[in-house]
Amino acid sequence: MRILTETYPDITSPLHYRSPFQLLCALILAAQSTDEQVNRVTTRLFAAYPNADALARARKTDLEELVYSTGFFRAKAAHLREAAAVLRDEFGGEVPSTMEELLKIPGIGRKSANVLLGALFGKPAIIVDTHFARVVYRLECVEAVRPEQIERVCRNVIPADKQYAFSMRINFHGRYVCTARNPGCTECPLAGDCPYPGRRFSSPKK
Ligand code: SF4
Repeated sequence: MRILTETYPDITSPLHYRSPFQLLCALILAAQSTDEQVNRVTTRLFAAYPNADALARARKTDLEELVYSTGFFRAKAAHLREAAAVLRDEFGGEVPSTMEELLKIPGIGRKSANVLLGALFGKPAIIVDTHFARVVYRLECVEAVRPEQIERVCRNVIPADKQYAFSMRINFHGRYVCTARNPGCTECPLAGDCPYPGRRFSSPKK
């Protein structure tokens, strides 16, 4: 954690947002897309639909066209409208602050819910995405391969107030250094602590 903190001092999310509502929408669009693509789309999305009520009332075809470039556009457009309706009708237009409530929102799974808990509410959050799973597996921090198992193991050993920052830093390390196909072991600042520096790995088997 010390090395990661020195290597990645800035843990600002690559997704652009100015409100909890905007981060939630960006996370719905992020699946199977790049942050750059999502940021391009959300600039227009938030201008057209600035709050949950406006988004819930969006025309299906307008929304599908707007989010088309992020992929899976029909499902994402549907999730955006349904999520906005749930926020408006069940949570007073605000993003709720518990895992249980967040999981009631269409398009939001545990990974995104943890992002919201950590980024918006400062709550403990282990964010297990593909990068996180790969890096902690290679570092032998975990033997588990299923996201919920990995989350549980990490929750038990990472101090609660450091979990969100740890998640972000591991994610950055997976994106920029410990990449899926060609991990940069020779330049990796964690190589001295990694059980298998210099070797190439596949991602954990599902
Ligand atoms: S030494 Fe290689 S496998 Fe280990 S964390 Fe660094 S890049 Fe990943």
